[in-house]
Amino acid sequence: MAVPIMQAVRVGHYVVKQHLLGRKRYPLVLMLEPLFRCNLACAGCGKIDYPAQILNQRMSVQECLDADAEADAPVIAIAGGEPLLHKEMPQIVKGLIGRKKYVYLCTNALLLEKKLDDYTPSPFFSFDVHLDGDANMHDASVCQDGVYERAVAAIRNAKARGFRVSINCTLFDGADPKRVASFFDEVMAMGVDGIMTAPGYAYERAPDQEHFLNRQKTKQLFRDIFRLGKGKKWRFTQSPLFLNFLAGNETYHCTPWGKPLRTVFGWQRPCYLLGEGYAKTYQELMDDTAWEKYGTGAYEKCADCMVHSGYESTAVMDAVRRPWHIMKVALFGPETEKPMAPEISLKNQRPAEYRYEEQVHAQVQNIEAQKPARAPRVRFHRAETAPAEEKSAATA
Ligand code: SF4
Repeated sequence: MAVPIMQAVRVGHYVVKQHLLGRKRYPLVLMLEPLFRCNLACAGCGKIDYPAQILNQRMSVQECLDADAEADAPVIAIAGGEPLLHKEMPQIVKGLIGRKKYVYLCTNALLLEKKLDDYTPSPFFSFDVHLDGDANMHDASVCQDGVYERAVAAIRNAKARGFRVSINCTLFDGADPKRVASFFDEVMAMGVDGIMTAPGYAYERAPDQEHFLNRQKTKQLFRDIFRLGKGKKWRFTQSPLFLNFLAGNETYHCTPWGKPLRTVFGWQRPCYLLGEGYAKTYQELMDDTAWEKYGTGAYEKCADCMVHSGYESTAVMDAVRRPWHIMKVALFGPETEKPMAPEISLKNQRPAEYRYEEQVHAQVQNIEAQKPARAPRVRFHRAETAPAEEKSAATA
């Protein structure tokens, strides 16, 4: 199974419990970004375009554990930046696993082989390796030759040492369904535990703005891939209903609060993909965010989004409401031939707001303000006499 049976049971129990308790909003996955610094510069990434002062920030072990205590989600995904660049990452992972949280450490795997000794295999822990397709597709996506080869070597090594390993495959415009299907065959043959896949979100700060998929193209691409996957034993770490959504069979609205994100800036509003403001606490994020202002149909920046950050939680909640529906899709796979479900109208969406410069400015000022002030140097000329207490302090 892509997800261990105990994990599926515990998460299912958690979701049903939230429904029975009548909680309107609850987190399914806590997203942690303890740093933005990365050792790659991918064309489709909108996460690392920050000045050095911000890229040098790290969340401490305690801040990561506190974020977990605040949100108390059953699953935690650690992203970035590249999490393996964080010197305290082994302690962060150990602390979270010790609380019986299911931890996915997202990595480009360039440092994975070197760092494997710092981690211990556990049913609560999985490396989630970024692989956007076969060698040519992936190396083009990450703008560096040889990365696929190194990532695959690290995956094989991690699997040989007993770690759970899944892959995270982001697809862009121009992806060839046949090549993607062959790639899924290839990673299954490598022995990975599961595949997580989604279309790339059109980050406003990504260097390449030309290869993001719109909704219609996304749905057609995933239909074509899933059609080629009929009868194959591809294992996905995502809900079957989320895959059904990608294939154009569900009219889902976004549930951004299902995967709240804590970064070095604080709790990000409204989701992992959009940074439209920050809250100091998880409770403030939940209570003071105007959630209705986000999602496809509500906001221009959400128009083409079909990413798991917003829609996987919707799919999981739908599974609780319609268990027979998820069973059917789990048994037979996503529908690939019938007409697609109606699309959400964009007629009343509000226009995009651009806040990046203002936020970066505020964060840099914040960092500068927190730097310890340097004590001014006090010099005495020979002829001058300093007061007795200053003299002793200066020579101590
Ligand atoms: S649709 Fe939802 S997940 Fe996607 S960018 Fe908008 S708020 Fe975020």
